[in-house]
Amino acid sequence: MSNDVIAALGEVVGQDQILTGDRIGEDYGHDEALSQLPRPPLAVVRPTSSAEVSGVLRVASAHGVPVTARGSGSGLSGAAIPEPGGVVVSFERMNRVLEIDVENHVAVVQPGVTLLELEEATAEHGLAYPVYPGELSSSLGGNVATNAGGMRAVRYGVTRSQVLGLEAVLATGEVIRTGGKLAKASTGYDLTQLIIGSEGTLALVTEATLRLYPRAAHQATVLAPFRTVDEVAHAVPKVVTSGVGPLILEYIDALTMAAITHAQQLDLGIPAEIRESAQAYLLVMLEDQHQDRVEQDTQQLGELLTELGAVDLYVLPGHSARRLVEAREKAFWTAKAVGANDIIDVVVPRASIPEFLRLSTEIAQRHGSTVLGCGHAGDGNVHLSVFQPDDEVRSVLLRELFEASMKLGGLISGEHGIGRSKKRYFLELTDPTTIELMRRVKRAFDPEGILNPGVLLEA
Ligand SMILES: Cc1cc2nc3c(=O)[nH]c(=O)nc-3n(C[C@H](O)[C@H](O)[C@H](O)COP(=O)(O)OP(=O)(O)OC[C@H]3O[C@@H](n4cnc5c(N)ncnc54)[C@H](O)[C@@H]3O)c2cc1C
Repeated sequence: MSNDVIAALGEVVGQDQILTGDRIGEDYGHDEALSQLPRPPLAVVRPTSSAEVSGVLRVASAHGVPVTARGSGSGLSGAAIPEPGGVVVSFERMNRVLEIDVENHVAVVQPGVTLLELEEATAEHGLAYPVYPGELSSSLGGNVATNAGGMRAVRYGVTRSQVLGLEAVLATGEVIRTGGKLAKASTGYDLTQLIIGSEGTLALVTEATLRLYPRAAHQATVLAPFRTVDEVAHAVPKVVTSGVGPLILEYIDALTMAAITHAQQLDLGIPAEIRESAQAYLLVMLEDQHQDRVEQDTQQLGELLTELGAVDLYVLPGHSARRLVEAREKAFWTAKAVGANDIIDVVVPRASIPEFLRLSTEIAQRHGSTVLGCGHAGDGNVHLSVFQPDDEVRSVLLRELFEASMKLGGLISGEHGIGRSKKRYFLELTDPTTIELMRRVKRAFDPEGILNPGVLLEA
C-alpha cells in the first residue's frame, strides 16, 4: 500500500483515525482462532459513518487493497485476520444503539455495538435480543457476519432469524439498504440473508435492524447427570419434542464439566459418588412470563429426564445457574488454558448426535488424539476441543471428523464459520457446483476480490 493510498484513506476518516506502524495494536492482527497465526495489517481505519466506510472502500477498490472488517475480534475461525498488505476497517467507533422501537419490537444498531451494550439498552424497555454467543463482548456486525448462534438458539434461532434489515456498503463503495422493520418480505432476492454469515466477504455491514422479544420474567435451570454420553445424546431430541420449549439445552461431558467448574471455582453441591458415575450432563434452562408455567414445565422435564436415565436431578438456585451458564460460556478459555490445539463446531441433525459422538471418539483414538466437549445439543451443534499437537495428524483427524458429520447430513460449522481455519476442508468436502456458485456470488458483490480475500473461498 503506497503512501498515497494511506493519505487518501486518512482524508476519508481523518488522519488521527488511520493507524500505521507502531500505532497498530497487536489485537488487530488476530481473532481467537487457536490454529491461526496473527498477521498485522498495513493500516487500520476507524470510520464513524457509512459515508466514511463508503469512502474507504472506494479508495481500496481503486487501488486493489484488501479490506478486512473487524468487530470485537472474538471470532473462532480466523476470519478477522487481515491479508498481508491489507487494511482493517475497525467498527469500534460505530457503536451506537440508534433506536429501540418498542411498538415494532425492533432495535436499530450500528455494527460496533456489543451484545452487552444491546442487552443493557433493551432491558430498560422490558425487551430482549435473544442471541447469546458465549462472548458478550462480540459486536453485532461480527454476529451478523458469522451468523452467530449460542445457547439460546434452540428456542429463538440464530442471528439469521433475528435480522430484519441491513445497511451495507459494497466493495465499490455503493451503500445499499435491505429489508426493514418488517415482519415479512417477499420482494426479490433476499440480500439480507445472503450477507448474513458471509464473513465480511460480500459487503461491510454498517447498520442492522434486529427483532426484539418481551423479556421473560421467570426461569428455572435443571442439571441432569447421566451415566453415559450416549444416554445424554439420546435424551436431547426427546426434550426438544416434549413441549417444554427449553431456552437452553446443552450437553457437557464429565471432563469438560470438571474443568469448567474448577476454572470458575464453582461448587454445584453434586455428591462425589454421582460425579464419579456421571460421564455427561444435560443442562436445561426453562423460561416463561408466568412462574406457575415454569414450575409445571420443570416438573414435566424432571419426570422425562428420570425416565431417560438421569442419575439425579438438580434444580439450581439462580446464582449457581447463572454461574454454571457463565462457566459453560467460558469453556473455550478453559480448553485453551489446558492446551487444546483447536476447537471445532460441527453441526448434525440433532438425532444424529449419539452416532457423531461415537464416531468422533473412534476417529480420535485411531489418530492417538483426544476430543472432549460440550455443545448446543438442542441444535445438534457439537463443540469439540481437539488435543493433537502434530499439525499433519490433526489435519487428517479434522478432515475425518468433518467427513463423518457430513455423512450424517451435517456441516463443517454450525456457528463459528469457515474463515481461514476451515477453508481447506470446506473447499475439499463441499460439492464443486455449490462452491462455483458461491464464487460467482462473490464476484457479483466484489468484482475486484478486495473484501476479506482468502476467507471462506480462495483469495
Ligand atoms: C469464549 C467465546 C465463546 C464463543 N461462543 C460462541 C457461541 O456460543 N456461538 C457463536 O456463534 N459464536 C461464539 N463465539 C465466536 C464469536 O464470539 C462470534 O463469532 C462473534 O459473532 C464474533 O463477533 P466479533 O464482533 O468478535 O467479530 P470479529 O471476530 O471481529 O469478526 C468476525 C467476522 O465478521 C466480520 N465482520 C465483523 N464486523 C463486520 C461488519 N460490520 N461487516 C461485515 N463483516 C464484519 C469479520 O471480517 C470476520 O469475518 C465465541 C467466541 C469466544 C471467544
